[in-house]
Formats: sequence, structure tokens, C-alpha cells
Amino acid sequence: MTCQTVSTDRPDFSLVVPCFNEADGIDEFHRRAAAVMNRIGGRWEVVYVNDGSRDATLLHLERLRAHDPRVAVINLSRNFGKEIALTAGLDHTSGAAVIVIDADLQDPPEVIPELVAVWREEGYDMVYAQRRKREGETWLKRATADAFYRVMQRIGGVSMPRDTGDFRLISRRAVDALLQLREQHRFMKGLFAWIGFPSKAVLYDRAPRHAGGTSWNYWKLWNFALEGITSFTVLPLKLATYLGVIVATFAIVYGGIIVVRTLIFSNPVPGYPSLITVVLFLGGVQLMTLGMMGEYLGRIFNESKARPLYLVERYLPPQQAMIGADADRATVLPR
Ligand code: UDP
Ligand code: MG
Repeated sequence: MTCQTVSTDRPDFSLVVPCFNEADGIDEFHRRAAAVMNRIGGRWEVVYVNDGSRDATLLHLERLRAHDPRVAVINLSRNFGKEIALTAGLDHTSGAAVIVIDADLQDPPEVIPELVAVWREEGYDMVYAQRRKREGETWLKRATADAFYRVMQRIGGVSMPRDTGDFRLISRRAVDALLQLREQHRFMKGLFAWIGFPSKAVLYDRAPRHAGGTSWNYWKLWNFALEGITSFTVLPLKLATYLGVIVATFAIVYGGIIVVRTLIFSNPVPGYPSLITVVLFLGGVQLMTLGMMGEYLGRIFNESKARPLYLVERYLPPQQAMIGADADRATVLPR
């Protein structure tokens, strides 16, 4: 096969695709993504990160790479979670712009040309795809998401765009900035917002999953929210102080009332029920604040170990980034 470029050249675009148990849909994803990228023009590569899949994802990725020299595959040593898989992918990109996209086709590759157009023509560093509407979501999920964004905006100090996932185009300098943030607890939405740089939204309709099932549930969402809040604000730590001040003030006032009542009316001291209520309430508040401190302590513990974010079992680099007719031929896969 003849090629117009050599592999040492920087491609114009790098796609980063984290994959966890995506064997059923990954070929279809590649077909659609490659078709879109070929239409855009410019040289591109795609970095697939196999995040410890328990199915045949790696096999499929290796097969894709055998037929398409623009494919790079990173096989992580185990499942590290999407955030870290994404970071591993970003670490191995060289494109002038990087596009982060899910493998399950919920982020339609057909939106990529719009992201690229905004980047090219208007020069934004971060062009994120924003969902136009969400269908098939319960009011509970909607309401909890609403509350979360409001809290993050209010106390987190980072204003994160609503209804966005990780699907976005990031300029090289923004990627380099992002990769300087090596914290273990990677709340990507927050990190994207933290680095700043001019950003713009492109609206799109989110599709249902192509194959397989989502790995999200309410427990995971709760932990996601906790991650977001504790990564970006220490306000919950101060809560104990204010609660303490309020309770102490209340106690002094109430103590005064009891003294006065006993002196003037010689009332007997109120007994067991009120006492147990106060004791249990304060016990609960103390445990809660301890737990809150534990959240932060645990995170300090994890960061202080300074372990690498991920371990690579195997890295298969792209063989070349191509343009034109060669590229079109390369995307034809045997069934
Ligand atoms: N993913 C991953 N590691 C994980 C979980 C998910 O790399 O531990 C990938 C998954 O293959 C997909 C993307 O992250 O490409 C989004 O995952 P999913 O569709 O489960 O999340 P949702 O669309 O519900 O946000
Ligand atoms: Mg999905």
C-alpha cells in the first residue's frame, strides 16, 4: 500500500475512544467514525483504549488495527474506569485536535464535522457536544442531575455546561493543559471546566445505546456526584464548624431558659425524652461530619500514594495517518 505521509508526522485529528465490553458494537463504530473522518479531510488517527474488557473487545480492536493503519490500541492491565481510560488515550495522542467520543455510538460520529468546523473557523479550544433533549429519563434522574449542577456551580466554583458528557473536541494546547492534572480522582467534567480556555457548545440529539447495556446506576451516580463535589470544594468540611456554632448557641440560650424557669417557677428539669433526642441528634451530626472528613481523608490517602494513573499491558501504535483514496480502502473490513 502506498502512503502520502510518513508515520512520524503529526495527524490533524486524534480520536480517543474508551472501550469497556464493547465487542458487539465496536466494528460498527469504527465503520461510521472512519466514514465521517474521511469526509472531513486531513490526516487522522484513532486511539482505542481497552479498559479491561471481559469480552472479545481486544480481539476486535486488534483486528481493526490489522486492517486500518490509523488505529492505535492501548490495552490497560485491568479495568480502571472511563475517566482514567480516557486519560490513557489522551496521553497517547499527537493530533492538532483531539476528539473524545464513546464507543457505544451514543455520541453520533456524524456530529464531529460540526465540532471541527467550530474549532477551525472560530478558533475555540474546547468544542463540546451538548444534548438537545433527553428522552427516556425519569424525573428523578432529571431532578438529581439538576440539583448536582446547581451545587457544583454554587459551591464548586466551576461552572460546568449542562447536558454534556465527555464528547468534545479539544485543541492541542488544551489537551496539554489537561494532561498536567494528574490527580487520581478524575472528575473529567470538572477538569474540562477547570482548565478554562474559550469553549463553545454544539447541540445534538443523543442516541440510545447501539449494543450492550449502560454500566451506570444510582449508586454510581451518587459516587460520581460525591467525586465532583469533593474534588472541587472543601465547603463540606466547614459545615461542621457552622453546625457546631449553631448548636452551641442554641444550647446556651436553652440552658439560660432552664435556669430562669427553675429559679422563678421552680420547675422540675425535663427528663428522658428530650435528653435522648438531643443526644441522638448530636451523635448523628458528629458521625456525619466525621464521615465527611473521612471522604476527604480517603482522597488525600489515595493521592499521597502517588501511584501511576494506569498501567498499560500493551500499546500498539498507529502504523500511519493517511489521507485520500488509501484511507477509503483501509476502512473496508472483512465480515
Ligand atoms: N467505559 C470504559 N470503562 C468503564 C466504563 C465505561 O472505558 O469502566 C467506556 C464505554 O465503553 C463507553 C464509554 O466509556 O465507550 C461510556 O460508557 P457507558 O455507555 O457505560 O456510559 P454512559 O453512556 O451511560 O454515560
Ligand atoms: Mg453510553
